Amino acid sequence: MNPEFWFTEKYSETCGFSLKVKEVLETKESKFQRLDILDTYDFGKVMLLDGLIMLTERDEFVYHEMITNVPLFSHPNPQDVLVIGGGDGGTVRELSRHTYLNSITEVEIDEIVVNAARKYMPFVGCGYDNEKVNLIIGDGIEFVKDKEDAYDIIIIDSTDPFGPAEGLFSGEFYSNVKRALKDNGLVVAQAENPYYDTKWMMRSVNNMRKAFLDKVECYLAYIPTYPSGMWNFAIGYKDKAPSLSFEKERYEKLQLKFKYYNDSIHKACFALPEFVKDLLKQKT
Ligand code: SAM
Repeated sequence: MNPEFWFTEKYSETCGFSLKVKEVLETKESKFQRLDILDTYDFGKVMLLDGLIMLTERDEFVYHEMITNVPLFSHPNPQDVLVIGGGDGGTVRELSRHTYLNSITEVEIDEIVVNAARKYMPFVGCGYDNEKVNLIIGDGIEFVKDKEDAYDIIIIDSTDPFGPAEGLFSGEFYSNVKRALKDNGLVVAQAENPYYDTKWMMRSVNNMRKAFLDKVECYLAYIPTYPSGMWNFAIGYKDKAPSLSFEKERYEKLQLKFKYYNDSIHKACFALPEFVKDLLKQKT
């Protein structure tokens, strides 16, 4: 292996993020996307889809703790959770720690992602070891079309809005998601970043706003290997605003050990910098 082998994810024509690579562990192509698993010096194992970083061993905990625990501790009594995407297993791993849940369903379109995570990334792939997790290989867009009043929480853990994931950012999809949610249900989606290609962030937020009649909040987490390091999540709600809801009793009873999320972060993550607030004023 060339000791000077570097991987660069380009954020624009003039800016990017680079990692020195120890070894390429796997390269595979499905009808949906190309997958690479790298072993790197600074961030351990890295999964790429179509050349973009999906997760790294060193900082995946931030994304997975924040996409699951914020909605779970905002909801008064979550029982049935649906994950769309999330094929690496990190999200269902986090959900599995909430042992009171009745069902955890994941709809992932591409089996090669699940297989690679289980083989090379057991720190997330272990999510599939819990027998409560029902993994369905299929298209999440199709899956929600005929669902009604079925889930307390829906988590959209998708790739960027290209190829099979493009429809996961659309207005029609969010309307179907709303119908699939029970009365006080919540949807959370990874919603890109406020520095590069901000149109994707705003498309996702505004389509969610249309479906949820403006009952949408955004929260941020700090993830070094995602573009800009500042990641946005959009959360749509039917009843009480997540920024004002925190299930303290359940949080204290469960005594879960986190590396990023905690009760203070639950409130603080909804505090947005001025430039993000300005961006969120854009309604198109
Ligand atoms: N944490 C990651 C990020 O934000 O970069 C996303 C992780 S996860 C690997 C994203 C998954 O969404 C991929 O495995 C991809 O196959 C899946 N996906 C994309 N479009 C989908 C669709 N229409 N239905 C179900 N899964 C989909």
